[in-house]
Amino acid sequence: MTVPAPVPALAPVHVLVLGGTTEARLLAERLVGDPRVRVTTSLAGRVAAPRLPPGGVRVGGFGGADGLAEWVREHRVDALVDATHPFAATMSRNAVLAAAQAHVPLLALRRPGWVAQDGDRWHSVASLAEAAGLLPALGERVFLTTGRMGLAAFADLDGLWFLVRSVDAPEPPCPARMEVLLDRGPFSLEGERELIRRHRLDVLVTKDSGGDATAPKLTAAREAGIPVVVVRRPPVPEGVPVAATPDEAVEWVVRKLYAEGPAASG
Ligand code: NAP
Repeated sequence: MTVPAPVPALAPVHVLVLGGTTEARLLAERLVGDPRVRVTTSLAGRVAAPRLPPGGVRVGGFGGADGLAEWVREHRVDALVDATHPFAATMSRNAVLAAAQAHVPLLALRRPGWVAQDGDRWHSVASLAEAAGLLPALGERVFLTTGRMGLAAFADLDGLWFLVRSVDAPEPPCPARMEVLLDRGPFSLEGERELIRRHRLDVLVTKDSGGDATAPKLTAAREAGIPVVVVRRPPVPEGVPVAATPDEAVEWVVRKLYAEGPAASG
């Protein structure tokens, strides 16, 4: 009787997820369950007490695209998933450069943006500065939900009052007349209605972050009939394939690393 030769066990492939989003955490949760994959999530370290994903975690910047490429080579990363926030444009650019340098395939995981519905009074702008320029014509009591970074754009609007909601406390320069609400999503529709009512908010400013966790503010604004200034997303760098959900990203990882092999790109 001939004994079949033992099949060599393949080392798990290493996937680096550039994180800081719910989708990145969900992707890590999906990938840790797959014995063929080893996952490391990278966080920028901006949030004092982040919700940590399962699997490996590293925290802090890489030192630009070259640093990221170096990390990828040193840690034998087989594929890179840019699952950063749609507005983290610098990191997304660095991911493109690093993936090319280190010859690993790159995927962008981006939740779809929000779509205006009947009754919405949206004003689409390209930047926080443009949002600030529009505000005095739209209202006096502003619900500012664009995060703690970038408040300098609103710092000169002395005639307006701001309710600033962010995960961690903002640092100056900030608007002179503001109250800070430290909180992080998901937010309920009931809670958003209550904030608009209690603070007599008459305009909302948001980035087009997309996703369900922070969408109830849009419904509450529609119901209250108040305008919403929506900051448009920077585009995903050209040529990078995009997955809209963590499940699509898992499919890409499996396809790249098993069907096509680790050297495949695109
Ligand atoms: P960014 O402007 O695109 O990136 C600035 C620098 O931060 C990068 O060059 C990189 O430093 C470092 N960095 C960013 N994301 C990183 C990551 N996942 N791992 C390691 N280093 C990272 O980014 P940002 O807009 O400041 O966002 C920072 C983080 O917060 C991101 O992870 C993002 O997913 C999350 N976030 C951002 C927003 C937003 O509205 N921008 C909202 C929610 C969550 P080095 O060059 O030194 O590598």
